[in-house]
Amino acid sequence: AVDGGEHGIHAFLHVDEAGALATAAEVDVIRSSGGAAAEALHRLAGVPIAVKDLIVTVGQPTTAASKMLEGWMSPYDATVVTKIREAGLPILGKTNLDEFAMGSSSEHSAYGATRNPWDLERTPGGSGGGSAAAVAAFEAPLALGTDTGGSIRQPAALTGTVGTKPTYGSVSRYGAIAMASSLDQIGPCARTAEDAALLHELIAGHDPKDATSLPDEVPDFAEAARRGEVSGLRIGVVRQLRGEGISAGVAEHFEQTLQTLRAAGAEIVEVDCPSFDYALGAYYLIMASEASSNLAKFDGVRYGTRVLPEDGPVTIERVMGATRAAGFGDEVKRRIILGTYALSAGYYDAYYGSAQKVRTLIQRDFEAAFAQSDVLLTPTSPVTAFRFGENLQDPLAMYLNDIATIPVNLAGIPGISVPVGLAEGLPVGVQVLAPAREDARVYQVGAAVE
Ligand code: GLN
Repeated sequence: AVDGGEHGIHAFLHVDEAGALATAAEVDVIRSSGGAAAEALHRLAGVPIAVKDLIVTVGQPTTAASKMLEGWMSPYDATVVTKIREAGLPILGKTNLDEFAMGSSSEHSAYGATRNPWDLERTPGGSGGGSAAAVAAFEAPLALGTDTGGSIRQPAALTGTVGTKPTYGSVSRYGAIAMASSLDQIGPCARTAEDAALLHELIAGHDPKDATSLPDEVPDFAEAARRGEVSGLRIGVVRQLRGEGISAGVAEHFEQTLQTLRAAGAEIVEVDCPSFDYALGAYYLIMASEASSNLAKFDGVRYGTRVLPEDGPVTIERVMGATRAAGFGDEVKRRIILGTYALSAGYYDAYYGSAQKVRTLIQRDFEAAFAQSDVLLTPTSPVTAFRFGENLQDPLAMYLNDIATIPVNLAGIPGISVPVGLAEGLPVGVQVLAPAREDARVYQVGAAVE
């Protein structure tokens, strides 16, 4: 017996049945009217979508799975939400996540974990476990996620679904609650590479409201997915992400995928990315530093929860302290403390500064790798879906899940995770990576191996 909604999966924190049905009915009316308006409907009009509860929506609560934002309603829509509304996608609701997107299992949600539809005793990954589980369980054909260190791709791998982290700056982040601003990206979750490509095309494009937004035209990603051609392509395999630390089931499927690609005419080359050994350390410093700054605005004055001190004077500092003590969970506090320390005077160069240097080395590793290959292929996650509690008491063990996904955010390049089979009944995903702005390539190769 399991508790929680949706047959125990608990992918959603909020469901907007009335709103979704109203949008679907509007699209129906236009479609059945025939004529120019029906012709003008977007390809995805009427296709329901779930939205990670880190992305703000008018008319539905946004909590970031934190007590800090309980009861808060956004006065505006994120740009990606405006786009999906304009295209006529019914918004089913808001999906669960690790609090403020900090985690790899969805266990850090203040509202209870999401369960993996493949095995309810296991996590769906994180932080976007809700979006991935909703798609895996056929609750929603499409979902939106955010990916700062793997939060779209790792849950996709653990639930047998598809998820893309787009090129940094190619999808507007206006209205995504910021975690680490130099790493965050919104992206699509779907059941196939082509579905993800269609959603990606809809949400991409320049947005003057996001200062990091690229001015590029949006390519035809769906066409690339339909082509699915790999003959003549050079596929790079990163030596550092092949052997050690990768579980047997994942490794076996990864090697099989390489064989399939070789049989389809691709050339497999091994590439060396020596700085990846330091990626986890650099990520957890840069991410925590930026998160500590981004989360400073949750002060009990401007948003959501306000807690007054139990006794003593009600000064602004003491209200802030009481609010943050009660409003944030342990993992969020851990990262704020780490980040605040790393940014403090006297330590800044030693920690944040060094981490930024490592980041440059990782970017150079990718440049060298892409000089020898068109795309890279890696396992998405070193393991399949793990049990609840397995990594919860050991933050470092939890952080190791991100070993293959975080270099991608540090370099700002695109990556897709696609399912390639089952190991002991649990999904395995592989990740296809391409140079910045070459997102079409990840769909082309992703569609060929899924
Ligand atoms: N697991 C990573 C972390 O905990 C991923 C976070 C994310 O991509 N939002 O930081």
